[in-house]
Amino acid sequence: MSEEKETTPTNFIRHIIDADVKAGKNEGRVATRFPPEPNGYLHIGHAKSICLNFGIAEDYQGTCNLRFDDTNPHKENTEYIEAIKEDVRWLGYDWGQRLFFSSDYFDQLYGYAVELIKAGKAYVCDLDADAIRAYRGTLTEAGRASPYRDRSVEDNLDLFARMKAGEFEDGARVLRARIDMAAPNMNMRDPTLFRIRRGVVHHQTGEAWCIYPMYDFTHPISDAIEGITHSLCTLEFEDHRPLYDWVLDNISIACHPQQIEFSRLNLEHTVMSKRKLTELVNDGRVQGWDDPRMPTLAGMRRRGYTPKSLRMFCDRIGVTKSDNVVEMGVLEACVREDLNDNAPRRMAVLRPLEVEIDNYPEGEGEVIEAANHPQNEAMGSRQLSFSRRLYIDRNDFREEASKKFKRLVTGGEVRLRNAYVIRCDEVIKDAQGEIVKLRCSYDPKTLGAKPEGRKVKGVIHWVSQDHALEAEVRLFDRLLHHPSPDTATDGGGFKDQINPESLSSLRGCFLEASLSGAQPGEVFQFEREGYFCVDKDHSPAQPVFNRTVTLRDSWAKIDPPRKSQ
Ligand code: ATP
Ligand code: MG
Repeated sequence: MSEEKETTPTNFIRHIIDADVKAGKNEGRVATRFPPEPNGYLHIGHAKSICLNFGIAEDYQGTCNLRFDDTNPHKENTEYIEAIKEDVRWLGYDWGQRLFFSSDYFDQLYGYAVELIKAGKAYVCDLDADAIRAYRGTLTEAGRASPYRDRSVEDNLDLFARMKAGEFEDGARVLRARIDMAAPNMNMRDPTLFRIRRGVVHHQTGEAWCIYPMYDFTHPISDAIEGITHSLCTLEFEDHRPLYDWVLDNISIACHPQQIEFSRLNLEHTVMSKRKLTELVNDGRVQGWDDPRMPTLAGMRRRGYTPKSLRMFCDRIGVTKSDNVVEMGVLEACVREDLNDNAPRRMAVLRPLEVEIDNYPEGEGEVIEAANHPQNEAMGSRQLSFSRRLYIDRNDFREEASKKFKRLVTGGEVRLRNAYVIRCDEVIKDAQGEIVKLRCSYDPKTLGAKPEGRKVKGVIHWVSQDHALEAEVRLFDRLLHHPSPDTATDGGGFKDQINPESLSSLRGCFLEASLSGAQPGEVFQFEREGYFCVDKDHSPAQPVFNRTVTLRDSWAKIDPPRKSQ
């Protein structure tokens, strides 16, 4: 990675690898892989796995493969493949030449299955899916042997070849490992290795195959073929590890990677299952995979989250074996931290109220130089246009003074950020009594200088009416009400938790003119408002900005403080 990198905190996986390297295991080599299934877009949970796998490869001078785990052609497609590649790259990782597909190994997988059959360790079973389930037994009861378990090697070879040749219908037969129907671990009770899927066109192999290998058979062999040393996966695969090892121990492949499990990332107010995210997209509950409210990397990118902030987040949450749910505030704090350092400052008025400065000459104006960042001079400056007619934010004015309100009140003074001190002399209202305009006066001696003989505490932002850029600004709130939407019991599932007010659009916002050249993806701090990113729907004629994150943590108000686990 090109940028400077914080040192990644160590974790139990790195301890295992340290010991392996020290002991000279795998000749000291470290090879990992990130194995997404191309059946959806990547989400923040995947970022944890990417940072872990690619991060370890970087730190141990090893390699990390990007491998598409593509054995289920029904749900997979090339749009997902391209999106996943883009997201991994965007996060800051490079697989170089190491791009692979499990489907690259279909021939070899078939060959290893034949080996198992020849050794009496796999058989073709004619039971249907329901029967296989019924025969499997339960956690407290041993399973029963399939009536096809003792088929001869010759029959099995013949039937398996005919499965491959497309002679049988979907579900008519499967190839199963012959392990132990009484094994306490259900995954070892003669698991399915290959199934028939006729008539689907695979995005990589076309119509070449009508049998497809199962994950538990494909994954260990793909890892071994690629010479992976440490196969890192999430905890739900812990019970599959004996099968992972069994497969590799019973075929003629020398390499035997070590599977190590860690806990998945769960985020509050978020669902992470691709099935559920697909439902949100397909049901039109969001505007697509890259909707800024989605926990996808594409959504977060569109919202203005930076790769650095996500890597920082992955470092902070760490890698352990205990399940937990991370608060949204932790993620947003990382985003804020990066943007606070790196986002240029701008002024934007989201709820405009007209101000006219009566003692500022009509038709005249001036240009004020303002720093792009209060602490970082290297970020340079931009020019602000000042004139007689301005906008300020409605929330920055009140008719009545109060001790707490440090902004503009009738008869009171306030500083316009980067410019002069003004006083509100008169409030103009329409027939309904709504405030439509403030008549003010300014003190010409206060540009970059303190007002003489009096204290002005408040500072508010503003833009010049004649120069401002009109824009739409989109604000986002949590997409799902319940902090743990997967387990919410007060409704019928996560979709009942959808917050109908998660997207609000403010039209008629006014931005300082220097934002006219902003490009989609750029993020700014709108002073006193938060961080905002130029949306992909943006055009110079119709500017659109997304609020990336507020300046301060707003989640504390939504979720009362809890003890952290
Ligand atoms: P789903 O169950 O929603 O389909 P998945 O885990 O099957 O998701 P994959 O595409 O297979 O999705 O995941 C690729 C890799 O990312 C796997 O190694 C998986 O363990 C890891 N991963 C997926 N979700 C998370 C998560 N929430 N936290 C950490 N790692 C994850
Ligand atoms: Mg998976």
